[in-house]
Formats: sequence, structure tokens, C-alpha cells
Amino acid sequence: MTTTETTPPAASTGAGDYDAVIVGGGFAGMYMLHKMRQLGFTSRVIEAGSDVGGTWYWNRYPGARCDIESLSYQYSFDDSIQQEWNWSERYATQPEILEYARFVADRFDLRSGMQFDTRVTAASYDEASARWNVDTDQGDHYTGRFLIAATGCLSVPRLPDFEGLDSFEGDWYHTGDWPHEGVDFTGKRVGVVGTGSSGIQSIPRIAEQAAAVTVFQRTPNFSVPAHNAPLTPEQRDENKQVFQKLRREAETMIPARAGGPTVIPKAFDLDDDARTERYQKMWDMGGVMFMASCADLLVNKDANDTAAGFVREKIHEIVSDEKVADLLSPHDHPLGTKRLCVDTGYYDTYNNENVSLVDIRNAPIEEITANGIRTADADYEFDTLVFATGFDAMTGALLNMNIQGRDGLRLNDVWEEGPRTYLGLQVVGLPNLFTITAPGSPSVLSNMLISIEQHVDWISDCLEYMRERDLGTIEATPDAQDAWVQHVNEVGDSTLYPQADCWYTGANIQGKPRVFMPYVAGVGPYRQKCDEVASAGYEGFALAKEPAAAAR
Ligand code: NAP
Repeated sequence: MTTTETTPPAASTGAGDYDAVIVGGGFAGMYMLHKMRQLGFTSRVIEAGSDVGGTWYWNRYPGARCDIESLSYQYSFDDSIQQEWNWSERYATQPEILEYARFVADRFDLRSGMQFDTRVTAASYDEASARWNVDTDQGDHYTGRFLIAATGCLSVPRLPDFEGLDSFEGDWYHTGDWPHEGVDFTGKRVGVVGTGSSGIQSIPRIAEQAAAVTVFQRTPNFSVPAHNAPLTPEQRDENKQVFQKLRREAETMIPARAGGPTVIPKAFDLDDDARTERYQKMWDMGGVMFMASCADLLVNKDANDTAAGFVREKIHEIVSDEKVADLLSPHDHPLGTKRLCVDTGYYDTYNNENVSLVDIRNAPIEEITANGIRTADADYEFDTLVFATGFDAMTGALLNMNIQGRDGLRLNDVWEEGPRTYLGLQVVGLPNLFTITAPGSPSVLSNMLISIEQHVDWISDCLEYMRERDLGTIEATPDAQDAWVQHVNEVGDSTLYPQADCWYTGANIQGKPRVFMPYVAGVGPYRQKCDEVASAGYEGFALAKEPAAAAR
């Protein structure tokens, strides 16, 4: 592998030949580009948006915030970033996170290595040259020794196939593809479909403006309060001192359910009063850490029932209309097996006269009409519709790229029955393609910044290892991939996670194969496994010299 003899990029598009073509300019692609530059590899990022930020570039709906605390949701690879950046709130808003991404892009001059407003339409591996050929919707052609998919897990918004949507005479929006200029709901009658994190965050904000909001709920979700607040200068300063130490601890964390912190009790180690007191304490603290109330909430259904019951009681305490509270109370999945939602005033909003809830589990949406929504038992009129209906998660962006590996092997065929990877980093038959935070890695069950940095570092180390040994190709072996997939499934099945129908398993999309996609053992054990694989000379991967035709 050479790093010096690359075709100079064309001035206008950056199209050309690179050591690595990186797809996606979100947090993963940004750091990957920076790392490639640091190591002296040539690379180019292809990004569909007009700027950096990935999911935070697109998800501009009102109320959009991160549900990981901002003091943790930041890069650690260069300490000066966190030393200089000051988060204003405990949970940062989408505009502030996007501003942070721009700050990092400016700091490291990342935009000069990125091709914006460009979407990859096809990527195929040419065995003779050991290169990936990448085509884009702008008609550009890139080649790269490596293709690195930094395409995100929640980057393909999904609009259900509602009949009649074209006939709707008002405006409609998807939360995952929100207009940059914003939406003014003042005086509008708004229908919102979907009550996942996006719906739960946006509904209270829309209701503050709109004349009336009608929420169409198929399945209620559990939500816990964020207890968001401004960060004080003291909190920020203290975090700057301890951030790197805390991050190193978080990177090696073993979940309590897998023998991690022993200070966390199991649910039935506590008597009823003590358990309730603990749930109350975690509820008052706010955020997804509610799931750490007891060590066994995600492995013991009886334990889970106690926490789920606590949240249902809270819903009934907050929502004054008992029928509405009943409807909002989830019963179909264990608490936390769907992504726990974190809200500001979600349940309270149903006490407002301008907000109503429609159960579409029993009376589904039949069609969108010119004036609104028709369910099995009523017609509703709206000026504006908001679809908070989620994403083709984890696999959607990869499958949309028309990836073909060796001998024309199509990723879409290989994954017809669901995604299979080795370590979430590679797929058999697709040499020199790396995937960042793909199925088979902790990704969406972790702080994404931790998982992104770990994958980027691991891939970068691997590329250096290959360069030092003059190796040209790397590909997961079938045995290693089979064993990893089996392990991921076994660990998943030892928890309650697979019991929920949601995007973790592909169940949110009709016809999508049902596979529990993330690796649940935790970022610590996963990192250890990846490090062991690397230390053993990339065990489970086949590494080879460049084919003669490709040597330069
Ligand atoms: P989601 O969790 O998949 O929720 C989609 C909602 O739309 C569900 O209530 C779903 O109902 C409903 N829906 C889908 N198709 C429908 C149909 N045909 N008819 C009626 N209802 C339908 O999507 P999301 O809310 O966008 O969240 C996805 C993930 O993004 C989250 O889990 C989270 O990881 C991430 N996210 C994070 C944040 C944050 O950091 N704060 C914010 C937003 C999103 P069913 O449940 O019945 O399918």
C-alpha cells in the first residue's frame, strides 16, 4: 500500500483516488478524516448534507436534544476541544450540538477534505486493482483502497406508506428531515404521528405554539424526565478537569448486569420501600441512568416489572385524565428494551386543553385525506402533519449505497436475512470495507461518541499495521464472522432486549428481517475483544499483499 502516489483530486469535486473514501460527515466521518490526515493517508469524505453534523444536521425538529448529557457527549481525542468548548445545558439542543460539530470542523479544517451535497449511489470492489469504485449522484467517480462507511445508525428517515399522502393539502414534515428554516405552527391544527423519542421531544414544543395538537399513538413508550437545566461555570470547569479520566473509565465500563459496578443493587436485594425510594431517587436525577436503578432490570422480567410499574404510576400521577394516562402507559415491552425516551414535559402536555391523544392501535390510520387523517373510526382535520415515524435504522444507509464486494457479491443479498458482521467492523466478501458502529457492535446502546472514537482508532491502527507490513487487503473470515454473530445473538438473548418490537430488531419496518442488531455486552468487554483481535495480528481477518495488478 502506498500513501504518496495518489491522483491529485480534481479541483471542483475532489473526485480522484485515495487511500480511503469515507462516506458520511457526521461525528464518525469527521474524526475518521482527521485521523487519516494525522497518519498521512489520503482520504475524502462524501456527505449528502451541505455541512458536517450528520444526524444533528438533519434532525432539526423543535425540542430536538441529545439524551446523553452534553458533558459526556463530546470528543475526547484532542483535549483542547473540550477545554475550549462550553456546553450551556445539561442536555444540549440540536442547534448547539451542530454548532459544536462546526467548531470541531473549523478547528481541524475538516471541510476542505469533504465533498458536500453529494450522495453515494454505488460502491463496488474491483479485485484486480484491490480498490473500491465509488459513484455519486453528482456524477463523480472516486476510487479508494479502503471504503469506510461512517453512515450513521439513524440516518435514513422512514415515512410509512400512508395511502393518500400526496392528496394532503396542508404542509407535512418528517422529524428526521426537518426544514432548515424551521416551521411556524402558530394557530395551526397539527396532527403528529409517532411517539418514539422524536415525537416525545417535539410534541410539547409544538403544542406550545399550535392551536391544537392531536397525537396519533400506536404504541406507548416509556419516558423519564430529563430535568434539564443550565450548566453552571463551576460544573463546566470541574468537568474539564476530570473529563479525560471519566471518559477512560466509561470506555472500559462493564454493565452492572454483566458483573460491572457491584454497588448497584439487584431489584429484589431491596425491600419494596427501599426499591421505590431508589427508583424515586433515579427519577429525580433524570435521564437514561434510570435504567441503572437496579443491576438486573434488563435481564430479569420480574425486576423489570417493578421499575415499569413505577413509571406507569408516575404517568398516572402526572396525567390528570385517567383514560389518557392508561393509553400512555406501556404494557407491551419491558422498560428500556426500546430506547428509553427522555423528555421535558411530555406527559404534562396531555393536561393542556389543546392536546389530545388518539389510539391508533385499535383504530389504525387508513389514509391521509386532503384535509387530514382518516382512521378506522374517525376523520380528523389538520393544517399540518408531522411524522415522527423513525428510521430505517442501522442497516438502511449501508443498504442504500448499492455495495458490491468480491465477484459482484451484493451487500443487500448477503444481508437479506439480516445483518451479519465480524465485530460490526467488516463483512465477509467485502474486503477493505470498514463500517463504523454497525450491527454487531455496541453502537446505539452506548454513548455514540465513545463507540465512534473506538472504531475510528481501531480502523486507523489496522491501516497503519497494514502499511508497516506492506499488506494490501483485509477481510473478515467466514468462521470468525459466524462465531461473532452467534455470540452477539447469545448475549442479546440472555437479556430482555429482543422482547421489544422496535428499530433495534428491524421490527419497525414491515418486511425487514428480525435480528437484534446491537451488541449488548457493553463497550468495555467489546473494546477488550477488539484489542485482543488486533494484538493477535487481526485474528479472524485474512490479510494479504496487494494483488500484483494493484501494486504501484
Ligand atoms: P421510533 O423510536 O422508531 O418511533 C417511531 C414512532 O412512529 C413509533 O411510535 C411508531 O409506532 C410510530 N410509527 C411508525 N410507523 C407508524 C405507522 N405506520 N403508523 C403509526 N405509527 C407509526 O423513531 P424516533 O422517535 O425517531 O426515534 C428513533 C431513535 O432515534 C430513538 O430511539 C433514539 O435512539 C434516537 N433519537 C434520539 C434522540 C435523542 O437523543 N434525544 C431524539 C430522537 C431520536 P410503533 O412503536 O407502534 O411502531
